[in-house]
Amino acid sequence: MLRAVALVAALAQAWVPRPRATPKPLSHLRPHAHLRPPTRLRATVERSEFLYAADIEAHSATLASTLAACGRDDRAEMASYADALECESEYLRPSGRRAVRYAVEVAFLAHRGQKRRSGEPFVTHPVEVAKILARTHMDRDTVVSGLLHDTVEDTDLTFGEVEAMFGVDVRRIVEGETKVSKLPKMARELPAADAEKEQVENMRSMFIAMAEDWRIVVVKLADRLHNMRTLRFMPPRKRAKISRETLEIFAPLAHRLGMWQYKTELEETSFEHLFPAEYAALDEAIARKRTTVEAALEECRGTLETMLMDDVMIKGRMRTVSIEGRTKSCYSTWKKMQRQQCGIERIDDLVALRVVLKAERPEAEADTSLCYHVLGKVHSTWTPLPRTLKDYISSPKPNGYRSLHTTVLVGSQPLEVQIRTDDMHRVCLLYTSPSPRDATLSRMP
Ligand code: MN
Repeated sequence: MLRAVALVAALAQAWVPRPRATPKPLSHLRPHAHLRPPTRLRATVERSEFLYAADIEAHSATLASTLAACGRDDRAEMASYADALECESEYLRPSGRRAVRYAVEVAFLAHRGQKRRSGEPFVTHPVEVAKILARTHMDRDTVVSGLLHDTVEDTDLTFGEVEAMFGVDVRRIVEGETKVSKLPKMARELPAADAEKEQVENMRSMFIAMAEDWRIVVVKLADRLHNMRTLRFMPPRKRAKISRETLEIFAPLAHRLGMWQYKTELEETSFEHLFPAEYAALDEAIARKRTTVEAALEECRGTLETMLMDDVMIKGRMRTVSIEGRTKSCYSTWKKMQRQQCGIERIDDLVALRVVLKAERPEAEADTSLCYHVLGKVHSTWTPLPRTLKDYISSPKPNGYRSLHTTVLVGSQPLEVQIRTDDMHRVCLLYTSPSPRDATLSRMP
């Protein structure tokens, strides 16, 4: 059972991940990597076919006629989306991966011929939304709903057809998606509707949806995230409005739900659109700071890596320990400056070293004692600065954020070190899966 600790060091994109200390056993390889070695040509031909043609024809006459009109280019395009998603959804069970493939085919046919403002095929949007959801290991129905979230609103597909093909949960999420996006528009059409009213309405629709199934909100957040990534294709006036809404409603919602990855990117993109000058200045200042502390960061990382590699407490209990530098986001730096009424030079956690412990077995993630063990190691190697230790493990932040923070002197450079388990690091929803069946579909956080 004992497996040497593999230390993965990736300092943002600046460092190349180190090779694992020991090769993984075969069982860890992707099943299809060695179990099914079909000839390359046959695999390609099979892959670019609509594998669910029969099901699609059985459930939707409209999709069936689109399918009949599809040529070789269509099939190749569809297969490229399916391939991209398959890479991201390896954490799902085979049945889940099959459902995702089925949904790619349905979404492709439903949106065929539609274009986004960017000129790209519309289907690239739901595919990207599903990728975002898969990267945060959402369950099967959430990823499938990401693929289908715009189909009923923008195409001929009906809720009944969605349910017949993907079940009642997917129908509920897609239906919720449609409702959430309609409510603010309805509020806008009211003669007396001002901006404030609209936001109240937006908030209200979000909470109603969340009460029904929180995955509706998760898909909505992923949808918004991709729309923010492609916001430059919108007219400027709309850009500001959407950015403000994102910053005031969606980012705080992601924050409350503990979905850090979504939250940070939602904030950064909207901040960049709303305050381009401030964003650029902070971005540059943070990059400069990073260069200044680079040496200290690298020294600390290297020492810690060697130390933890040989640590008897960690060996066998932790699968990987990732040690990487993280830079504070522009928006949270800006907010901290506003809060503390100070300049950027007073913000001392612009750059920090983040240690993430990934347990051998998922249930061991609950064991937080190793975080304190690593903290002890850090404090016995470098001098901690007084009053900088923050224990968000024993007293989590209101949004559920858990981690140990401490600032130590590396040479003459103060450096913040953050220690947490992978469990704390991942998307950590406050809500649990609505039914036990869903919980077994994938590793819901
Ligand atoms: Mn959408």
